[in-house]
Amino acid sequence: TRTVHVIGGGLAGSEAAWQLAQADIPVILHEMRPVRTTPAHQTDGLAELVCSNSLRSDDADYNAVGLLHEEMRRAGSLILAQADIHKVPAGGALAVDRDGFSQGVQAALSSHPRITILREEVAGLPPEEWEQVVIATGPLTSPAMAEALKGVTGEDSLAFFDAIAPIVTKDSINFTKAWFQSRYDKGTGSDYINCPLDKEQYYAFIDALIEGEKVPFHEWEKDTPYFEGCLPIEVMAERGKDTLAFGPMKPVGLTNPNGPKPFAVVQLRQDNALGTLYNLVGFQTKLRHGEQARVFRAIPGLENAEFARLGGLHRNTFVNGPRVLDRTLRLKAQPRLRLAGQVTGCEGYVESSAIGLLAGLFAAAEARGEEMFRPPAVTALGALLNHVTGGAEAETYQPMNINFGLFPPPPERDDRGRRVKGRDRKKLYADRAREALTPWIDSIRK
Ligand code: FAD
Repeated sequence: TRTVHVIGGGLAGSEAAWQLAQADIPVILHEMRPVRTTPAHQTDGLAELVCSNSLRSDDADYNAVGLLHEEMRRAGSLILAQADIHKVPAGGALAVDRDGFSQGVQAALSSHPRITILREEVAGLPPEEWEQVVIATGPLTSPAMAEALKGVTGEDSLAFFDAIAPIVTKDSINFTKAWFQSRYDKGTGSDYINCPLDKEQYYAFIDALIEGEKVPFHEWEKDTPYFEGCLPIEVMAERGKDTLAFGPMKPVGLTNPNGPKPFAVVQLRQDNALGTLYNLVGFQTKLRHGEQARVFRAIPGLENAEFARLGGLHRNTFVNGPRVLDRTLRLKAQPRLRLAGQVTGCEGYVESSAIGLLAGLFAAAEARGEEMFRPPAVTALGALLNHVTGGAEAETYQPMNINFGLFPPPPERDDRGRRVKGRDRKKLYADRAREALTPWIDSIRK
């Protein structure tokens, strides 16, 4: 059988390699770490989560990413299986112990008889004799590979920012001010740590964010747009003094046992299985490290915070999917090369893994000389695939998280002519997707 080469052992590459191997196709997985690392990765583990430890909402009935989780589980995803094994409490979200998760993925891949893992950079176009390749080198694709991709696609890959939120040790949090509670008591009811700010403290904090010294832009980074879902906290603060109080710092669904109702809150989410580390939710930042310690320690409860990791800033590399990719993720200009993960212009851990899963399935079918069916457009997998392979406008193409806006809209009215709105409408999307996915799942299992 033909061997398929997978370049990049991140979320997408790991998932693609797994799908190929499970379909009995021999795989060589090339991962450059630890020989060469990226600006954000800190370990040599496969499927390392570089920032948040959350795979976001696990609610498959009312949330598009939760629905994507469910579809990936049904399709035999390695990433979801390991996430379920290494889950930590996080309300309605699927969050994981990042080390256990990465080690679990690595163990599954390295013990698979069909998979060979090579620790090496593929520094340029893969050699001609590699007949079938999946490139899953991620948002921090090595420069040599980025150049090679640019050469093949004839398109400039865009670069822009994603930012990292700081992590503090639980022991260093002051619980005479902070308290455990999930918004509206979801999950166990006490999955998050909350720090209360009164009005005066909140506005002082906003001023400190705006005035704090930032990491300067490189010349080539100027004018690059932020991804709206991952805006640095100070950029949100600059948009208006109350933006955060109505956004990530809104005080709703919480009751402060230590004092009066807060004007705003900072929420911290568990970051490891032991429960010793907590990250500041939504606090990705490009403040200088020294400034971060000063500004964040002004938050009540975090006066003595010890930072296990401070926030940071990194670029993103992705191609213009709708222009350069065919319907099964191959580069139109060189169909032996198939892309997967964030480099296609999807955004997020789950989305990257999902596109990795599809790339693996497509590559396996191609290696066997069979036709591969795309998941229906009304499913989360299908909607996401459509976005990166033609559903989106090439002119204005931007990375995108999965959301119901990417799905074809269901009819506005039900059988009895009643208008379906809000949560009920989301459920309609989910139910429709579930039903439509079943024959596709049967087709990939045959
Ligand atoms: P990666 O997981 O990055 O995997 C790519 C792999 O390819 C890496 O292991 C890399 O070492 C390897 N590689 C690169 N070039 C080569 C080469 N030439 N040869 C061999 N190997 C190579 N998403 C979220 O959902 N939540 C977040 O909080 C979040 N935070 C982010 C923070 C930062 C700083 C960045 C950059 C991205 C963040 N993302 C986040 C976005 C994105 O979903 C993740 O980066 C995700 O890991 C992408 O999966 P991937 O498999 O495409 O890439």
